[in-house]
Amino acid sequence: MSDVVRTRFAPSPTGYLHLGGLRTALYTYLLARKHGGRFVLRIEDTDQEREVPGAVDLIYKSMHEAGLDYDEGPDVGGDYGPYIQTQRRDLYPKYAWQLVESGHAYCCFCTKEELDQQHKEAEAKGVTWKYNKKCLHEVSLEEARRRIAAGEPYVIRQNVPTTGKAGFDDLLYGHVEVDCDTLDDNVLLKADGLPTYNFANVIDDHLMAITHVTRGTEYLSSAPKYNLLYEAFGWKPPLYLHLPPVMKDSTRKLSKRYGDPSFEDLLAQGYLKEAIINFIALLGWAPKETNEEFFSMDDLIRLFDERGLNKSPAIFDMNKLTYFNAHYIRELTPERYAELAHPWLSQVLDPDRFDFPRLCELLQGRTEIFSQLPDMVRFLAEMPSFDEALYVNKKSKTTPEIARQALAFVEPVLAAIPEWTETCLHDTIMAAIPESGMKTSQVLWPFRIAITGQAATPGGAFEMAYLLGRETTMERLHASIAALG
Ligand code: GLU
Repeated sequence: MSDVVRTRFAPSPTGYLHLGGLRTALYTYLLARKHGGRFVLRIEDTDQEREVPGAVDLIYKSMHEAGLDYDEGPDVGGDYGPYIQTQRRDLYPKYAWQLVESGHAYCCFCTKEELDQQHKEAEAKGVTWKYNKKCLHEVSLEEARRRIAAGEPYVIRQNVPTTGKAGFDDLLYGHVEVDCDTLDDNVLLKADGLPTYNFANVIDDHLMAITHVTRGTEYLSSAPKYNLLYEAFGWKPPLYLHLPPVMKDSTRKLSKRYGDPSFEDLLAQGYLKEAIINFIALLGWAPKETNEEFFSMDDLIRLFDERGLNKSPAIFDMNKLTYFNAHYIRELTPERYAELAHPWLSQVLDPDRFDFPRLCELLQGRTEIFSQLPDMVRFLAEMPSFDEALYVNKKSKTTPEIARQALAFVEPVLAAIPEWTETCLHDTIMAAIPESGMKTSQVLWPFRIAITGQAATPGGAFEMAYLLGRETTMERLHASIAALG
C-alpha cells in the first residue's frame, strides 16, 4: 500500500447522484484533500441490469458541479486505470482463480432451478438461505476444469469458513465482528465472467492502492467477508469508514423513489452548490474546534476530521438547507446575484423594462431559493386582481373607506411629482401626508396595495412605484380608484 492517502468514491451508475451519495463523495474528497492525498472516482458498473443510460455522464457532471474534483477517474485518467469496472473485466478472473487454487473459493455449477429449490426449502423451514457448499464438497477442481472446458456455465464462490469469526476495524464503528457461520458463500465471479461488487471492490481497492474505503453502512455487514478476501490474498486491508445513512425522517432513508430531491434537482430549483455542500457536510459531522456553521470548501478541508462524525443517522431538513441557501445568496456580490437571478426573473418579466440592479438589490436579501423569484415579482409585469379586503390593515386601522380617501389624496400629489425617483417620491409624499389628516401607514399601505395588488412586496410603496415607473403606477392607481368606486 502506498504511503500517500488515496480515497475513492465508487458510485454505481444507477441514476442521479442522491444526497446520501453526494455526502459520501464529499467526505471521501475531504479526507483525501486534508491529508494531501489523491481522490479517485471509480465507476462500479458490473451489475449491468441496474445501469441507467446516461447515469455515468451525470456522475461526472454532478461531481464537477459540486466542486469535488477527482485526481483520477474515467474522464481524467490516472496511473491506476481503467476506472470503469466493465473495462477491467479481463483482470478479475485471474484473481478469482488464484483463490480457487488456494481453497478460498470454488467453482459452482448449481443451476438457477436448483438454487430456487434450495431457497424454497429454506423458506419453508423459516431459515435464512445460505448456499450449502454442495459444489465445494462434490466437485473436485479437476472435474470443475473439465466441465468448464466442455462449456458448462459456472460461477466462482467465496469459500467462507464455517467456524470462527471474521471482523475488521472501522474508523467510526470500531471493531466489527461476526460469526463466520452467519456468512454466505457469495458469488465472486458471475457466469458472464463479470465480478460481483463483493469481489470487484476488494480487487480494485487493492490494485488502485486505496488506503481509506468510505461508503454507506449498508456495507458494514459484508465488510467482514471482504476482509477475509484480503487475508486470503495476503493483502493489507484498507482503513474502513462506514457512514450512517441520510434519513428523510426517523423511519426512512432519503430516496429518489419517494420524490426526495437529488443534487441536480436542488441546483435546478435554485439552490447554490456552496449552500448544498455546506449543509450536506454537517449531516452527521461537526468540527470540534468551532461552533460556526458556515463553511467554504477550503474551511471544510482544513477542519474535516473523521473523529467529528456521528454514528446516528442524520436527518435531512429541507428548511435548514433553505436557511443555508438564503445565507449564501445574501453573501453573493450584487453582480453575481443579478447574473443568477436574471433567468428566473426573465420567466415572468422583461428585465430591461425595469431598473434591474435596483430590483435585484431589493430582492437579494429576501431570496431564499431562486425558484421563488417568479412568484415574488410577477405583479410587476402584470397587475394581479385582488379583493377590497386587502386594503384592510388592523394595525393601522385601515379600511376600504380609508383606502378610498388615501388614494384620492395621493393621486394629485403623484401626478405632480417632478422627478420619478425613489427619493423624490419619498420626500414629496411624506411632506404632503400631514395635510391629509391620516396616519402615514394609512396612506402608504393602500397606495402600495393599489399599485401592486398584493400584501407582500420586495420593498415599500416608494420603491415599488419607482420600479413600476410613472406611467404604470398612474394607470394602476386610476384603475384601483375606479374599482373602489
Ligand atoms: N458501488 C457502490 C454503491 O454505489 C459503492 C460501494 C463502495 O463504495 O464500496 O453503492
